[in-house]
Amino acid sequence: MARYTGPVCKLCRRESQKLFLKGQKCYTEKCPIERRAYPPGQHGPAQARRRKQSDYAVQLREKQKVKRIYGLPEKQFRTLFEHANNREGITGENMLIALESRLDNVVFRLGFAASRNQARQLVRHRHVEVNGRIVDVPSAQVNPGDEISVKPKSRDLAVVQGALEARTRPDLPEWLALDEKKRVGRMTRRPTRQDIPLAVQEQLIVELYSK
Ligand code: SF4
Repeated sequence: MARYTGPVCKLCRRESQKLFLKGQKCYTEKCPIERRAYPPGQHGPAQARRRKQSDYAVQLREKQKVKRIYGLPEKQFRTLFEHANNREGITGENMLIALESRLDNVVFRLGFAASRNQARQLVRHRHVEVNGRIVDVPSAQVNPGDEISVKPKSRDLAVVQGALEARTRPDLPEWLALDEKKRVGRMTRRPTRQDIPLAVQEQLIVELYSK
C-alpha cells in the first residue's frame, strides 16, 4: 500500500501545527514549524495570510491531520472510520480509540520505538509479540489484557534500547503498564477519548465523511 515517505516536517507545516511525526526527535531537534509557520511551497505564505476557509476545507484539514499523525493511507483510514461508524457509541471517539489501539501505536506509546514509523517497522520486521506470538501486522487491534513485548532475541536491539532511554515525553499512558527491563507491556484497559492527547476535532471528520 502506498505510503508517504517524503520529509515529514513538511506535513506539519502543511497543517500549521506540530504533529510530532518524528516522535521523540521532535522534543530534542529544532522544529522547522517554529521558523516557518506557513505551508510549504511557493504559495505557502499567501495561504497562511488567507483567513477564511470553507467548511469543507476545515474538515478536510482535520482529517488529513489525524491521518498523518497515525501514518495511514486514505483507504485504510476510511475503512477504519467505517468500522468505527458501525459500532455503538460516538463515531469520532470510536475512531480515535481504534487508532490508538493499533499495535504500531501501542508499541510507540510503550516506548519500544521512538516514533510511530519506527514502531511500524519493528512490527513488520517481526520483532514484536502479542501474548507470546509474533504479530507482524501494524494495524492489528490490541485488546485489554493483551501483553505486548519485544521478542527475546530482539530485546537488546539498539533501536529499542535507544528509544527507551530517550523516552521522556509523552509519559506512559494510564491505560498501559510497562516492565521496561523485560521489554513487556500490557494494555490494562481500553483508552478513552480523555486518554488521547490529541488536539483534534474528530467531529469534523465525521461530518466530512457523512457528506
Ligand atoms: Fe513536526 Fe516534529 Fe518536524 Fe516539528 S520536528 S515539524 S513537530 S515532525
